[in-house]
Order: sequence, then structure tokens, then C-alpha cells
Amino acid sequence: MAKKPEDIIRDEILALKAYHVPDASGMTKLDAMENPYRLPEAVRGALGALAGNAEINRYPDPGAQRLKARLRETLQVPSGADLVLGNGSDEIIQMLTMAVARPGAVVMGVEPAFVMFRMIATFCGVRFSGVPLKPDFSLDVDAMLAAIRAEQPALIFLAYPNNPTGNLFDDAAIERILAAAPGIVVVDEAYHAFAQRTFMDRLARFPNLLVMRTLSKSGLAGLRLGILAGAPAWLAHIDKVRLPYNVNVLTQLAAEKVLQHDALLEEQAAVLRAGRERMQAELKSVAGVTAYPSAANFILFRIARAAAVFDRLKQRGVLIKNLDGSHPALADCLRVTVGTPDENAQFIAALRAAV
Ligand code: PMP
Repeated sequence: MAKKPEDIIRDEILALKAYHVPDASGMTKLDAMENPYRLPEAVRGALGALAGNAEINRYPDPGAQRLKARLRETLQVPSGADLVLGNGSDEIIQMLTMAVARPGAVVMGVEPAFVMFRMIATFCGVRFSGVPLKPDFSLDVDAMLAAIRAEQPALIFLAYPNNPTGNLFDDAAIERILAAAPGIVVVDEAYHAFAQRTFMDRLARFPNLLVMRTLSKSGLAGLRLGILAGAPAWLAHIDKVRLPYNVNVLTQLAAEKVLQHDALLEEQAAVLRAGRERMQAELKSVAGVTAYPSAANFILFRIARAAAVFDRLKQRGVLIKNLDGSHPALADCLRVTVGTPDENAQFIAALRAAV
């Protein structure tokens, strides 16, 4: 007799809530850390020509050699390190977790942090251990070192800066974790363009360090390209888990082209960094708002009755992210992405009206 899905699908998958992406049509979209700026007309034209001439009847280069060469240069990857590319860094998180998912293995992170670290551990059937951050969202190094000793995690994820809190963890604290960890430590630099701080130059010093980047926050979210840099001894194995053609032909061509104009992306990032500082000051001037420091392109803030404020913002056409209820440390917290000056002004005006 045929069984019901509930009898077939794994219990932990049945228990999951799907990652919810709200409909943003017609809204001022400040929920997903996208870069609001498009590329200049000339570059877009060049991308159009590339796409038109691309051999999409063929599979992509499985090793994405040309794109990797360009990335090595742009990201200043040290010569001793290798690269693995993913369909977004989400896919890299998945590859890493799959590769270490022995029975009994532990993946560790902090909490609150990027939710996919925990979700992907669940997908892969490994236990995720989340070590709480301190109330100011800084790293609790002692708790982290104790958890490492007790649980011997195969893999640790630390986002630098952290999402959704926006802060950079202390470098020395991360180095202590690197020294104590028995396995891989991934420093996820998704927001590097806005923090301008990196562990890339520490790859040679810490053989268990892997540095992860993405092009998503720098204006190429739609392309889906994530990058992992680190010792060949680790990456050779991670690469075996990668599906052979995970980075498609158009993404390889377009990313390589856009990276030839990386000064444009940096100009946009600089505008967003300045926008962040203005937004930070504006937020602080709204009664009842506590805004947390941010080195990313978003700001976390706390406000009474956050869920109602979130709804009122939405009614006024501004979509941000409601984190209230997602973790006890994020009670009454909302997260806003830095947009264009116009979008930021719309958000602030809507917020003033909503409180
Ligand atoms: N890491 C962090 C810390 C993130 O915030 C995000 C996106 N929200 C990602 C990784 C995934 O980015 P992508 O898959 O677009 O590269």
C-alpha cells in the first residue's frame, strides 16, 4: 500500500518551516541586503552581447577556470590557496556540511546568526550547535571555547560581519577559535564590501581556516555566485561534493565581465557605506529606536511592538525584515537594508509615521 508523505519524508524535514521569501512586488524592497544600484548602461550592453553569443547548448566549464583566475586577482586570494565556487554561498554552506556529515558530527555556529547554517545542517542530518552571543551580540569566546572542547565540531561557521546583527566579531577572538577548533572554521565574509576587513591574508597562518565570499551583496545577487578560498588539502574534498556544472554558463561569463569593472562595484559599495552611516544617525533620532552598530549594508534595530511596526511599514509600501519571534535575543528586532538615498528616506519617513 502506498504510504503518505508523512511516512516517507524524514521527521526533521517534516518539522521544518520553509525559508519564507515574501512577495515584494510594488514595494520599496529593503529586506534582503541587495545592492539597489544597477550596472551602467555600457556594461549592461556588454553583458547582453555576451549572453547572446554564449554557447548555452554546451555545459559550462566545470572548473570555471577563467572566472576563477579573475576572482583570484579581484579578491586577492593568496597564491597557496585554492577556490571552490558555488551557486551562491548558500550552496557552499551545503557542500561543506554534506562533506563533514558523518554520523554524530557537529556543525557549530553562534546565535543569532544566518539561519541557513542551522537549516542546512538539518537538511544534511547533522546536529547544529548554536552558541549564544553576548547581549551586545559580541562573541562569547569562553562559551565558544568550552563548546568546542565539549563537542569537537567538524565545522564552525562565523559570519564576519554577522547577519542579522551587523557587527564584526573581534579578530583576536576568532583567532582563538581557529587555534582551538579541531576541524574547519569558515569565516563567512558575505558583507566584505561594506566591512572592508578580511581573514583572507590569514589563510597561510591557519590551515583550518576557509574564507567564504559572495557576489550577492555587491550587485550580483541574481547571478548566484559564492566563493570559497582555502587550503587545497580541504578544498580538494569539498570540490568532490560539488555538482559538476553548478555555476552556469551565463553566470561564469557575466561575473567575469563585471569583475573587470570591479571599481564600479566598489564605488556603489562606498555610496552604500555612506548611506549606512546616514541611516544609522536617522534611526537614532526616531523615538524609541535602539539601532545596533553595523559593518554591513543593513542595520538591526529594536523597537517596541516591532511586529506591528513592520506591518505598518508594509502598508506604507516599505518591506524590511521582521526578526521578532525568530530568536529570543531578537525580540522586537527589525532589520533594514541600506538602499538608495531615496529609498532610505522613504523608510525613515514611513518609520516615523509608524511609531
Ligand atoms: N552568508 C551570510 C552571512 C548571508 O547573510 C547570506 C545571505 N543572506 C549568505 C551567506 C548567502 O548568500 P548567497 O547565497 O546569496 O551567496
